[in-house]
Order: sequence, then C-alpha cells, then structure tokens
Amino acid sequence: MKKSVKAFSHCSYTKFLLLLNVQKYDISFKQILSPYYMKIAIVGGGAAGFFLAIHLKQAVPENRVIIFERAGRVLAKVRVSGGGRCNLTNSFAHVDDLSHIYPRGARLMKRLLREFSHEDAYRWFEAHGVKLVTQDDDCVFPAVQDSAAVISCLTHQAGRLGVEVRLGHPVKAVKRHEEGGLEVLFSGEGHSAERFDRVAVTTGGAPRSEGFDYLAALGHKMETPCPSLYTFSILHKDLTAMMGLVVEAAQVSIPGTKFRSRGALLITHWGLSGPAILKLSSYAARHLHDAGYRSPLQVSWAGEVNMETVRGYLQKMLSDNPRKQLGTLHPYGLQQRLWLYLLRRCGLCEEQLCGELGGKSLNRLANVLTADAYAIEGKGTYRDEFVTCGGVALSSVNALTMESRHCAGLYFAGEVLDVDAVTGGFNFQAAWTTAFVAARAMAAR
Ligand SMILES: Cc1cc2nc3c(=O)[nH]c(=O)nc-3n(C[C@H](O)[C@H](O)[C@H](O)COP(=O)(O)OP(=O)(O)OC[C@H]3O[C@@H](n4cnc5c(N)ncnc54)[C@H](O)[C@@H]3O)c2cc1C
Repeated sequence: MKKSVKAFSHCSYTKFLLLLNVQKYDISFKQILSPYYMKIAIVGGGAAGFFLAIHLKQAVPENRVIIFERAGRVLAKVRVSGGGRCNLTNSFAHVDDLSHIYPRGARLMKRLLREFSHEDAYRWFEAHGVKLVTQDDDCVFPAVQDSAAVISCLTHQAGRLGVEVRLGHPVKAVKRHEEGGLEVLFSGEGHSAERFDRVAVTTGGAPRSEGFDYLAALGHKMETPCPSLYTFSILHKDLTAMMGLVVEAAQVSIPGTKFRSRGALLITHWGLSGPAILKLSSYAARHLHDAGYRSPLQVSWAGEVNMETVRGYLQKMLSDNPRKQLGTLHPYGLQQRLWLYLLRRCGLCEEQLCGELGGKSLNRLANVLTADAYAIEGKGTYRDEFVTCGGVALSSVNALTMESRHCAGLYFAGEVLDVDAVTGGFNFQAAWTTAFVAARAMAAR
C-alpha cells in the first residue's frame, strides 16, 4: 500500500495543466469547453473554497467566480492551523492503509488522490511561492513556519485571477431556480438572493446540523455532525498527578468495540492526550458522541496487548534480577513514576524483592501493563486541531466530480463532506484534493 499511495498518478493533474496551457493559446478550444461563460458561487471562504475558486478561474478565466464568506475575514482556520504554522499536507511516507488516516472517506480519498495527490499539492504550493519543508514525522509545513505564507499565497492567486470575494455574506440556502441554474439565498441585511449557473458549497465542518437543513431539503443524506480529534477527560487523581508524563508507544482501546490506536500517550491534568488518544477520538468519534462521551477505556502501557507475552517478559525480568527491589525495574522503558504508580495500583510494595513475587501478583502486574482500565468522563479540548466528522453523505455525491446526486450544478468540497482525518496535514489534503476535483468538473460544461 505504501507504494501505491506514493505512486498516486499525476496523470489527471498533468492533463488538466496541459488543458490550461492549451486554453491560453486556443480560443476555439476554450469555446468548445465553455460555450458561454458561467457565473459561479462558492459558499465559504476557507481552504477548500479558495483552492476551488483559483482552479476554476485558471481553467476558464472568463467565468465569474464569487466567494461568499459569512465572516469578516477569509481563511480563518488556515491562520490558526498547526499552531499557527499550518500543517498543509503530509508526505504519506508511512501510510499503509488510508482507512487509518481517513476514518470517514478513505475510499473516496483513495480514488481522488489519484487525481490530485499530496505530491501535487506540494508542487502546487511551491510553484506558487510557498517553500515547504517535510518534518521527520512526515508533516509538511511552510519553510517560514507561518500559516500567513499559505494565506497570502491563496489570496494573492485568487486576486490575480480575478476571483471576487464578498465578506459578511452568510448564505442561508441554495435552491433550484425555476428558470434554470441555482439561487443562493443570503441571511442578513442588504442582499437577499442571487442566481448562478453553478454553486459549490465549501462551508467546512458545522458543529450543529441546522446549517445543513437546506441541503437535506434538496434531498441530500446528511450524516449528523460531531467533533473529532479531542482529548479524554478522566477523573483519576493518581493518574492526573503524573501530568506531563509521556509513554512513547502505548496502545489504547475502547473495550467491546474495534476501536484501538497506538502511539505516544500524554498524561494531562484533566486526563489523557497525545497522538494515541487523538487518533482514538477520531476512529470512535461517532461511537463516543452517541455514548455522551462516557465510556470505558483500556490502556496498554506496554504497547502490547497479549497478556501472555507481557507475563513472559516480566517473568524473565524478575528471574534475571531476583535480589533487586521491584521499584528499581523499568519494564518496557516506563518512567519510574509511572511504574511505581502501577505497582501501587496492583497493591504491590516497591521494596519487595523480585525473586519473592508470587504468580498471582505477576498476573496482576501483567494485567495492569496490558489492560489498565479507566473511565472516559467527557471530552477535553485540543486547541491545535479539531475537525467535524459528518456532513454531506458521500452517497449523495458523485465521486468523480463532487457534484450532488440530487441537484445538478451543485458541488461540494472540503470538510462539509463526510470526510475527515487524523492529525498530520491530512484534513487540508482532503480540502485541496476535493476542491481540485470539483473545480475541474465545474469548469467543464
Ligand atoms: C485549530 C485548528 C487547527 C487545525 N490545524 C490543521 C492542520 O494543521 N492541518 C490540517 O490538515 N488540518 C488542520 N485543521 C483542520 C482544517 O483546518 C480543516 O479541515 C480545513 O480548514 C477545512 O477546510 P474547509 O475549507 O472545508 O472549511 P473551513 O476552513 O472551515 O472554511 C469554511 C468557511 O466557510 C465559511 N462559512 C460557513 N458557513 C457559511 C455560510 N453559511 N455562508 C457563508 N460562509 C460560510 C466559514 O466562515 C469558513 O470561512 C485544523 C482545524 C482547527 C480548528
């Protein structure tokens, strides 16, 4: 799979670029492509909206493309993303299976990444003046380590191509117009409705479903939105007393479900965080939402879930060190503070000699190292990244074009779709990819 992810073909993107070059010189070809020029609305001035608008204008400069943004500024999430540095994509170097990256939308992304991959995104940003760096953890950032570089690239390209941006324009609905095309209805004063040939909805993740009512009314299936990528609140004083402690290779899971994840685990003053927890919150986003964010949690501090393997490992360690005190051991490289806590949790004394530990105590220790039990009591916050799972169901969208299956001329891109990823730049990649595919389809007639 690693190879196949790397080998995502650039054929389609290259063809599209060729098309753009042909268009520069061949007016008649452009006219075949677009017998009359279109007026296109893009609802939402975020990453997906801007990328889509830019590619639309590049394809057919004569089309009128207007971004309607409800807020007073565009690209607000790009600004705060990645702690202000904007992790805009990933090298995918260690991605074996896209379903581990995109808990919702993996099949769609597998198909669409062949049209516009992480490498295409990398090349596009570098070609448009944003030098990039790939970190050791595969995350890609602007070399200047500032999201402003991405914002000024997108706004500059949009401005240069003549994309119009209207701020303070909250769209309340999109409807079919009786004389053809689509009608965009605005809430707020001064502007009520406007007719367009095509409309793209790129409004991002909505924490509540009310914003989706008009899409449901048009016949789209909507997946209930709920948060993803958050930390767990665990009311356990002895655990949270170790805040700041990191276990590099833990495994966490939700008992009775298939949801589990591996990675670094961070103990915080409110519970647990770190990549392993964020991933689990993403995999189990809908399950935890439905459970009211209360659930049992199992932690393997050893990173190993086979109790017999851990028991054997401990037994060897004990018999190799019969005269040592239990508290002096460091099984699985665990920090001493954590190990002493786990000994206390098993009712064992740190001064006890290793050679004197009985079978039952050994079992208790193996159990706490592989399947330590906690209770998730709520959802913590995670300020670096946060996405919404849910939105427009993929069954309502044509996967080749991003066009609605229920309303001709209406397209979707970005987080408004039921596509979301774990941390690492994959959410922006989904925005660039879906926007590119939608733009290509919208530009063609
Ligand atoms: C704090 C934070 C950090 C993040 N960091 C990263 C990261 O480093 N890497 C990564 O890959 N992902 C990151 N993400 C996720 C990423 O930001 C989103 O997945 C991405 O922004 C989605 O792009 P989008 O264009 O679909 O939606 P958005 O960026 O949310 O843009 C949607 C736009 O539509 C506007 N809008 C909404 N409703 C309407 C309406 N009715 N009318 C008009 N306009 C409307 C909104 O105001 C907004 O400007 C982060 C998210 C957060 C919150």
